[in-house]
Amino acid sequence: MRLNPTSANQQLHWTDAAPTNVDIAIVGGGFSGLLTLVHLCRARPAATFAIMECHPLRYPGAAYGGCDSEHLLNVPAGRMGPTIDDVASFHRWLEKRMPGKFRADSFVPRALFGEYLTEFVADEVARSGAHVAFVQAAVVDIRDEQSHLELTLAGSGAAPQSLACPQSMTARCVVVAPGIPASPAPWVDREQGVAASSLISDPWQSGALHNIEPDAAVLLLGSGLTAIDIVQALRRLGHRGTIRMVSRNGRLPLPHLDASEPPQPASREQFAGSPARVLAAMRMMARERMAVGLSWQSVLDAVRPHIAAIWKSWTTAERRHFLRRARPMWEIHRHRVPVPALADITSQCKAGALLLERGELLAIHPVNNGIIAASVRAVDGVTHVHNVARVINCTGTSMDLRETQHPLLASIQRSGLAGTDELGLGIRSDDECRLINAHGVPNPRIVIVGALRRGDLWESTAVPDLRLHATRAAATIVAALTDQHLKANN
Ligand SMILES: Cc1cc2nc3c(=O)[nH]c(=O)nc-3n(C[C@H](O)[C@H](O)[C@H](O)COP(=O)(O)OP(=O)(O)OC[C@H]3O[C@@H](n4cnc5c(N)ncnc54)[C@H](O)[C@@H]3O)c2cc1C
Repeated sequence: MRLNPTSANQQLHWTDAAPTNVDIAIVGGGFSGLLTLVHLCRARPAATFAIMECHPLRYPGAAYGGCDSEHLLNVPAGRMGPTIDDVASFHRWLEKRMPGKFRADSFVPRALFGEYLTEFVADEVARSGAHVAFVQAAVVDIRDEQSHLELTLAGSGAAPQSLACPQSMTARCVVVAPGIPASPAPWVDREQGVAASSLISDPWQSGALHNIEPDAAVLLLGSGLTAIDIVQALRRLGHRGTIRMVSRNGRLPLPHLDASEPPQPASREQFAGSPARVLAAMRMMARERMAVGLSWQSVLDAVRPHIAAIWKSWTTAERRHFLRRARPMWEIHRHRVPVPALADITSQCKAGALLLERGELLAIHPVNNGIIAASVRAVDGVTHVHNVARVINCTGTSMDLRETQHPLLASIQRSGLAGTDELGLGIRSDDECRLINAHGVPNPRIVIVGALRRGDLWESTAVPDLRLHATRAAATIVAALTDQHLKANN
């Protein structure tokens, strides 16, 4: 199915004119930043806002703006509504646009959600009458100056001519929602003399998959949701060559349920104890369901509301154990793929056009005529050399932010404004989304929303979690503004 999205996100009017002083500054124009903005505009329409986005895409964030018109959501349409009080709103919008085309349990193209989200945000901002500057810039530092917060803005790669000099902006409160940086490409320090154009670190960057010879062999590092998306995108661009996927576990994500079935009731108490005990409880529940002809997938859905509480109950050692031993299996069960997408991938594997292998990249060397040789150690210890035209990083997000190269996340850690959890999974925040500094003290004027909260919650990735966090973060900011106002008038 081909879609023809309108140019709706022009409605957000990103410019490089940054105000020097606002009440509320928001870092990141993806789902989390925009939704927190919506709640704040509703609650404080008289406030002034600036939202900074370093790479404005057609639609917000890599998930909805970096995809092509056929990449599918991995959450059913009826659960993708951006606010908790109206989770069916996206499906209603679809019904109005394309009556009868999609059911509430359909997995619909992500670009449609991006279009809807853009319209929703633009309408909400306009309706509130709030003054919002949509600024195309990267925030590279935030400092707490007691009387105010000071942000340093720099030009973004997408618009190198903009904000040539770093510029300051002062704010009373800040929302930090930059998503989580991609993991460093697996070839860092393992390639010598290979042309940069042969190595694609960020497959979501606009045009990243263009200019690959249609019959060339391509190597994808990773076999999760991103790798599946990239295989499909390459084929839609007319790529006919062999695609090889190499990952440490050599497994594809498992399928979503094809049709709805009765949900599995489950309470927090049923998932008590260490990671091994929680996983054993889930396995038993899944076996019981499957014994009566139902699916295991509903067990994952049943545990999901309790994940943050379970994660919080584990010690650092238990969390580390889970990451080392259970994470690969967790990921393929939890982050599932719509059935049609998986069927397409499986049929490519059967036809031999797509190869899936368990292994690890050792080195990449140039060969000739744009061909590079990637040495991969297979699970049996044997090293194989694959001659390919491109190697594409599909390994997902960084799992350790302590060494991050992301300018803002590195600088706020250096200054002590923020700290990570003990495993470096995320930036620390409390239950009200307040940023916790390196000494463990929450900052009432800075909130974080999005996957950066992963270290405290584990599950802080998809719309059903983020819409809740955006609501909470906005409430925290409103309380901070009220507090500041009361203090100023006393
Ligand atoms: C390929 C893909 C598919 C997905 N599919 C689904 C799905 O179907 N359903 C679902 O619920 N979830 C999905 N997700 C999860 C998705 O990440 C969330 O739904 C949501 O989009 C995350 O939004 P965010 O704003 O927290 O982060 P992001 O979308 O990453 O947005 C953060 C933004 O901040 C910007 N930024 C970063 N640093 C700075 C800075 N210093 N200054 C200014 N701007 C900055 C970035 O450019 C980015 O646009 C998917 C994710 C991916 C990657």
